[in-house]
Amino acid sequence: MYRFETVQDVYKEARKYNKYQNTAPFPPYVTIELLSDCNFLCRMCALTYQKHHGGQMHISNLKATIREIAKYGSMIRFIGYCEPLMYRHIKEAVTYVKNYGLLLHLTTNASTMNRDMADFLVDAGLDSIIYSFQGGSKEEYLKMRALGGPIYERVIENISYFQSIKVDTITKLTTTVTQRDSKEDIEKFINDHKSLVDEIQISGFTHFIHVSDHFGEQDVWGQLGISRPKLKEDAKCFVTNYEMMIKPDGSAYACCGAYTDQLKYGNVFECDIMDIWKGGEAEKMRTKICGGELDSIDNCSVCPVRYKYDNIDNAVFNTRK
Ligand code: SF4
Ligand code: SF4
Repeated sequence: MYRFETVQDVYKEARKYNKYQNTAPFPPYVTIELLSDCNFLCRMCALTYQKHHGGQMHISNLKATIREIAKYGSMIRFIGYCEPLMYRHIKEAVTYVKNYGLLLHLTTNASTMNRDMADFLVDAGLDSIIYSFQGGSKEEYLKMRALGGPIYERVIENISYFQSIKVDTITKLTTTVTQRDSKEDIEKFINDHKSLVDEIQISGFTHFIHVSDHFGEQDVWGQLGISRPKLKEDAKCFVTNYEMMIKPDGSAYACCGAYTDQLKYGNVFECDIMDIWKGGEAEKMRTKICGGELDSIDNCSVCPVRYKYDNIDNAVFNTRK
């Protein structure tokens, strides 16, 4: 079905379906959350507040899923509420995807990406990698990620090494900011880090609504000295037209922001992915979400797409070389 040459081609294809009642014949990219675990406990992450950490996707189930996706030529993304490099079969998984000739993206906090792992990922032909940061300075990073010690320096060293050996992999650093990050801080952050990656993206404001409204952490605003963003007048979301996320137990969800079962519409270990994609449950969910009923689904009602900051909106800076 798809014959993508580059990661940009995949997102260009996805954008075609960014409108009401216009669903892709199959998701141009499929997000696979390999495990429900991370070595960080960031203050803004749903994983931090969820009770069940630790489940990993069985490697034989993962391979069957990759074979199924390969029939359609979609890109695979190893991201989600997890640190994918902690997956116990990560090398086997990367090799398997690349042996099927699919494009592969991975998002990581880079803290465990040692030289051996970086060498492996480059040799395997990883197409794209995003390093997830937090805040617009080292101090904000450590505060938002509830970390101490020399972890920041280790992350910088890891991504710097990857940049020095990489061939075709597109490297990107993304971070979100709060009102505590000044314009000067952000400019300095970009200047200090731009040699480490191909692109830096300040991708909007750090979102805490889900943490306070969904997980009951009502004191998060006061603790961090930041205020709530405002609701947008008429937020729209069409990602269910072109995106699917698969969790470690095979459950298929409407988008990669899913952390509740409200967005679940099937299980790929039990049914064909195409049947789930075209099935009644997925269609029902699309009608609701793309039709603008975001308030009726908790997961969507607290999604960043519904909110804005006066000064820090989505996509603030983007430095592509
Ligand atoms: S590094 Fe990413 S997955 Fe891990 S806790 Fe932080 S935001 Fe969540
Ligand atoms: S509104 Fe947010 S949570 Fe709901 S489907 Fe869209 S991106 Fe996902």
